[in-house]
Amino acid sequence: MYDFIIVGGGITGSALAYELAKKNSKVLLLEKDAISDNATRYSYGGLAYWSGITPINRQLCREGIEIHRNLSDELGSDTEFRELDLILYIPRETNPETVLKNYNKFEIEPKFLSVQEACEIEPLLNPDAISGVLKLPHGHINTEKTNQAYLNAFCRLGGKIQYEQVTQFIEKEQTIIGIETLENKYYAYKVIICAGGLTRSLLKQIGINIKIYFSNAQVIVTKPTDIKLKTLVMPAILKRLEIENKVTQAENENRWINPNTDILDGICEAGAIQFIDNHLCLGQISQFITDPYQKVDLIKSEEEIRQEIGQILPALKDIPGRLHQCLVAFSNNTQPLVGKIEEWTGLYTFSGFTSTLVFAPPLARHFGNWLIEGNDSIITQLEPIQSYK
Ligand SMILES: Cc1cc2nc3c(=O)[nH]c(=O)nc-3n(C[C@H](O)[C@H](O)[C@H](O)COP(=O)(O)OP(=O)(O)OC[C@H]3O[C@@H](n4cnc5c(N)ncnc54)[C@H](O)[C@@H]3O)c2cc1C
Repeated sequence: MYDFIIVGGGITGSALAYELAKKNSKVLLLEKDAISDNATRYSYGGLAYWSGITPINRQLCREGIEIHRNLSDELGSDTEFRELDLILYIPRETNPETVLKNYNKFEIEPKFLSVQEACEIEPLLNPDAISGVLKLPHGHINTEKTNQAYLNAFCRLGGKIQYEQVTQFIEKEQTIIGIETLENKYYAYKVIICAGGLTRSLLKQIGINIKIYFSNAQVIVTKPTDIKLKTLVMPAILKRLEIENKVTQAENENRWINPNTDILDGICEAGAIQFIDNHLCLGQISQFITDPYQKVDLIKSEEEIRQEIGQILPALKDIPGRLHQCLVAFSNNTQPLVGKIEEWTGLYTFSGFTSTLVFAPPLARHFGNWLIEGNDSIITQLEPIQSYK
């Protein structure tokens, strides 16, 4: 019998597993893929610690960046953490002042740079496509290495990982007492779902719906290149966030409860980051399709991303690479789904974050306190997780 079973070994599951093992709990982590093929692997790896708006978010941003600055030492493997500039480009036809106004709510306000100043900092930018940029201090990690560093440290603390797909919950009178995989049954006092974009469909196995959503993201991962991108480049106006808000309105809830393969909405937004080994991540398409298993047209998506990248960072357009798709979980307000699922005993979720990479490490620490010591100043302020049939 385990104290905790964690389902999902992306950044959320691995950070939480590590924090719980650090507190001497007996933890089993179940991950379906021995070679990861998830949102964590294909992420840009940006740490938006400037983006706190509410007092809770601001505290988590400060704690998050501090943890990341020391994480390689703590976990005993290199996460490739570094501080770098985030460049948010403003399209040529847009007035920079209107965009800048949307950023004054954040804890750290961006600096506006003219086209010429922007191109001095990031020479790969196309000066004809922008009316300026916003510059912010940002952190960066290699998410695959950070994920693995957490898993290795977890195992060193006595944690156990099984590469098996969870297919069902073992239930007794509204209490979850374990889970079933394709091969085995495992029992625990508490089961915590960290399955990212598959969290909703997994919980549906026992008739539970919770308000967690996902986008189908597509990104090109290139081979290492001699071309040097100095900053993390993204759009200043993220239309994806508007679409997330729209597709999670009450009138669409039924589509999430009864998934299908229709594309509710979608957007391609040029963004790019280069990793320390010189490979690039070029993105990104975000499509909103309620069936999590829908496959996309890889060739068409790759063409679309290259077209958008060609406008903003022309030198990167044709670097050889491969398109990947993955699911990215999000909630329909800025609150993560961290806590016990109401009306059930023994069942918890840890998912649906905004700025997941900066929030997951501190939230894992707070959630660990709450699960083991029964109290935590942050977790007690989060909204309860409502389930409905
Ligand atoms: C292109 C791109 C760029 C991004 N850039 C940033 C960024 O700069 N900054 C930022 O903060 N965020 C960014 N994100 C988002 C961030 O990467 C994700 O939010 C985060 O990695 C999600 O972690 P996760 O653990 O919730 O999910 P995942 O990494 O998807 O992990 C979930 C895991 O659960 C496993 N699983 C699911 N179902 C089961 C089952 N039944 N049994 C066993 N295992 C199961 C899956 O195999 C998977 O490994 C980006 C995402 C993308 C795609």
